[in-house]
Amino acid sequence: MERFSCSAVVLSGVDYGDSDRVITLLTEERGLLAAFARGARKSKRRFAGVLEPFTLVRAQLVETRGDLCRLDAAEVLDGFGELRTDIARAARASYAVELTRELAREREPQPDLFALLCGFLGELARQGAGPLEMMRFELSALAAGGLMPRMDACARCGDEGPRDALFDPEHGGILCPKCAAGLGTRISSAASGVLAALQRPAGAGPDAPAPHVRAEARALLSRFVAHHLGRRLKTLEFMRQVGVEV
Ligand SMILES: [Zn+2]
Repeated sequence: MERFSCSAVVLSGVDYGDSDRVITLLTEERGLLAAFARGARKSKRRFAGVLEPFTLVRAQLVETRGDLCRLDAAEVLDGFGELRTDIARAARASYAVELTRELAREREPQPDLFALLCGFLGELARQGAGPLEMMRFELSALAAGGLMPRMDACARCGDEGPRDALFDPEHGGILCPKCAAGLGTRISSAASGVLAALQRPAGAGPDAPAPHVRAEARALLSRFVAHHLGRRLKTLEFMRQVGVEV
């Protein structure tokens, strides 16, 4: 059975039996993997602190005949400890992890998505990140997963900066009134401008938008995500419940 080592972010874990744990990893080289860590909760020496969500590890894994890999050992590369001591950071990290898990594919390398998640968790841990930074991460993660809403031009005819645009998740972004033909939801040019600016490289982002514009952008982005993933993400609701700004 093949042995390999790889960098991975722990996305989630569930205890199994008396002392074992099954964890889900986003690996750099092999995408999403589930791994069985035997004796994880007893062997502090092998696994101390490494199997908690949001931890970046170097994992020693073995392929088995089943769906699960076997995790033989892991060392922490970055624990992103600040994510566990601040509710806003923890909530945003949970959202980033839930979205990434939905976009990641099993046993298929997605180095862009891996790098984005590591970068965002690092930023969040070190300096915190607000609603705009979170939307920037989401848009980049969606693009890495092959789902990029087109916000600067009509998704059908390419008309740039159409007036009175409508937003239609199914057609992948905004539509000019002619192409929309009754489809979609009205979107203000301010809100589409915020989302378009967040799709550009960091540093070229929007100036702080008015709260109602940000709320509109947030709502439309959430609809886009829910439409393409087939469900609303639970962690976004959790953020609202605990009063973290989205
Ligand atoms: Zn059009």
